Amino acid sequence: MDFTFTPEQDALREAIVRICAGFGDEYWLQRDKDGAFPREFCAALAKDGWLGICMPEEYGGAGLGITEAAIMMQAIAQSGAGMTGASAVHMNIFGLNPVVVFGTEEQKRRMLPPLIAGQERACFAVTEPNTGLDTTQLRTRAEKRGDRYVVNGQKIWISTAQVAEKVLILARTTPLDQVKRRTEGLSLFYTDLDRRHVDVREIDKMGRKAVDSNEVFFDNLEVPEEDRIGEEGRGFEYILHGLNPERILIAAEAVGLGLVALERATNYAKERRVFGRPIGQNQAIQHPLAANWMELQAAQLMILQAAWRYDRGLSCGAEANAAKYLAAEAGFKACQQAVMTHGGFGYAREYHVERFLREVMIPRIAPVSPQLILCFIAEKVLGLPKSY
Ligand SMILES: Cc1cc2nc3c(=O)[nH]c(=O)nc-3n(C[C@H](O)[C@H](O)[C@H](O)COP(=O)(O)OP(=O)(O)OC[C@H]3O[C@@H](n4cnc5c(N)ncnc54)[C@H](O)[C@@H]3O)c2cc1C
Repeated sequence: MDFTFTPEQDALREAIVRICAGFGDEYWLQRDKDGAFPREFCAALAKDGWLGICMPEEYGGAGLGITEAAIMMQAIAQSGAGMTGASAVHMNIFGLNPVVVFGTEEQKRRMLPPLIAGQERACFAVTEPNTGLDTTQLRTRAEKRGDRYVVNGQKIWISTAQVAEKVLILARTTPLDQVKRRTEGLSLFYTDLDRRHVDVREIDKMGRKAVDSNEVFFDNLEVPEEDRIGEEGRGFEYILHGLNPERILIAAEAVGLGLVALERATNYAKERRVFGRPIGQNQAIQHPLAANWMELQAAQLMILQAAWRYDRGLSCGAEANAAKYLAAEAGFKACQQAVMTHGGFGYAREYHVERFLREVMIPRIAPVSPQLILCFIAEKVLGLPKSY
């Protein structure tokens, strides 16, 4: 057993830290105020090839593993870029995994290089307003007409749909009452986000203003058959394949955010003097911070274990879900503690920790809630009856 990073992993982390250093607190505070998508930041990562970190080399990627992608995403969030920086590139990093695994050679050649080069952005359209976490109940329909499908329906919370040229959509191709199992009859498409047939309405939300989330309405969007990924009716299965690595990456982002919040809180606790001594000399201030550190370290070990298993082709469902749960909860506690440690200044935007607290709610809620992870672990690991 070896708990150290390889020299290559250390070098990767340092390279990301160097790029992020060009985008300091003021840049992210400004994006949080004006809501402008951080294009310069994405371009800087794309320029050095980082968007293709875990894409196959034959399509322009670096061919590295989820472990390396997790190191990268943690470093981005930890730089102070938070979820704004991480979410701006998250979909490019791993979103097209279904194309890599289930796409044809022609699809990979057509779809992957523009995404890796940062010339195209993609959004991921799964969640619907009326189905919640029960994905098998999706109502968006893709009807086959000759050599194309016609998509109608509504999605919600779709991130980056304001700026994306492409969309990965999960839609029902066979009605629910005509399939043997609820997980059948859904198909996956990667296609143009043709705004003549797709209405995108931004949701005014709590944090991460610069990376939009939207209601998306599909009105007779025509999708050529060659944009369907894999076989018709097996989309749910394809999406499941990418869920574990996605949970690992979002967990890494939550730990990064927790660590930067902890660092800011610790520095402030050393400097701020009240009653003639630094506030950090009080155990009521230092103990919660020490607990935050331990929880974040534990979550990070679970992330690395899950990533290590995924990269070796071992099952990692329990570990990836546990990592996402532990990281999001530890990240949240650290961000909350950072605000409290700053007292009144914690509520002021110029100290940044209130931005971190608003943003850390995202990895808690998405892409799966903590409650559903507990349900999953109870059922799959402990063998208790399925509760959902
Ligand atoms: C900022 C942001 C960005 C997002 N980006 C995207 C995106 O790009 N693409 C996309 O497809 N989606 C996206 N999402 C959606 C996100 O994945 C969902 O919001 C999340 O999966 C929860 O689904 P829901 O909102 O429908 O909650 P619901 O399913 O309505 O659940 C509501 C609450 O009830 C609980 N609950 C439900 N059923 C049970 C049960 N059986 N047992 C116990 N508790 C239960 C849940 O845990 C949760 O706390 C995003 C969300 C946010 C907030």
